[in-house]
Amino acid sequence: MKSRKKITNQVVIEKAKELGFDLVGFAPADKLEIETEHLKKWLDRNYHGTMEYMSRNFEKRFDVRNVLSSARSVISLAMNYYTPQQHEVQNGLGKVSRYAWGKDYHLIIWERLEVLEEELKKVDPAFECATYVDTGPVMDKAWAVRAGNGWMGKHTNVINRETGSWFFIATVINNNDFVYSETVPDFCGSCTACIDACPTGAIVQEYVVDANKCISYLTIENKGSIPDNFKNQFNNWLFGCDICQDVCPWNNKFSVLSGEKSFEPINKEIALNEISSMTAEQFKARFETSPVKRAKLTGLKRNAEFLTR
Ligand code: SF4
Ligand code: SF4
Repeated sequence: MKSRKKITNQVVIEKAKELGFDLVGFAPADKLEIETEHLKKWLDRNYHGTMEYMSRNFEKRFDVRNVLSSARSVISLAMNYYTPQQHEVQNGLGKVSRYAWGKDYHLIIWERLEVLEEELKKVDPAFECATYVDTGPVMDKAWAVRAGNGWMGKHTNVINRETGSWFFIATVINNNDFVYSETVPDFCGSCTACIDACPTGAIVQEYVVDANKCISYLTIENKGSIPDNFKNQFNNWLFGCDICQDVCPWNNKFSVLSGEKSFEPINKEIALNEISSMTAEQFKARFETSPVKRAKLTGLKRNAEFLTR
């Protein structure tokens, strides 16, 4: 068997940074025992709403070797998407969550991951990996925490001490051994700002979000109607919700501007009357390369109708 050329942490960090990733961490490909135990409890309480995919492929979430049998480690990458603009608050405008303001991050990050893989294969032709950007049966937040890129905040987003929580996470399961990153402590402390600010009480206890109550779920993944009891609680959120991250002191103190031009706002707010009369062709033309397309035209119309009812 041919001997393999070792890929060092430094090589990955340099290539990833050249490709626009802001954080790079390394974790051994161990089983996610505690994390999947939490996931199980969350599913048992039906906190996933209609996101049935969350309960599928449990074995892959538990053990990444069921995704890539040769897996030795997981590289967790983060790409900051924070831009300095704020929402306009105006009647008739629906707010879009920050992560969806610009071009679809999947399109950008998938492309960069392909380049990263090619570059690492140049160092070690036997390098194998499976890459994910918040799709697929991989616990991306858990890996970001295990790889030392931050801690899981009480709002269940990963927070980094230097940059806050406005970042996308990419996960590279691979067959290379690295020097592994230290995990960071939980710096939420006694803060409860996110829990107190959530208008629908979706953070039902520290580190637990009931999706059935979360505006983000209700306006995007939810395929049904929005229950009437949430009337007047949405604060004009049309697609997603940023409240718990907006109030987080780690974002207020440490948000760093993204260097990625593709995340500059295109769809920061959307006129509600425009959506009501939008055709399928208009929807496609406007949101083809935007994360907003995830809600589909029917979902967006439902949300606009709910905000104006
Ligand atoms: S995204 Fe909005 S609704 Fe969901 S937990 Fe955070 S503040 Fe609450
Ligand atoms: S708002 Fe406070 S409790 Fe919530 S995630 Fe941020 S630091 Fe943690």
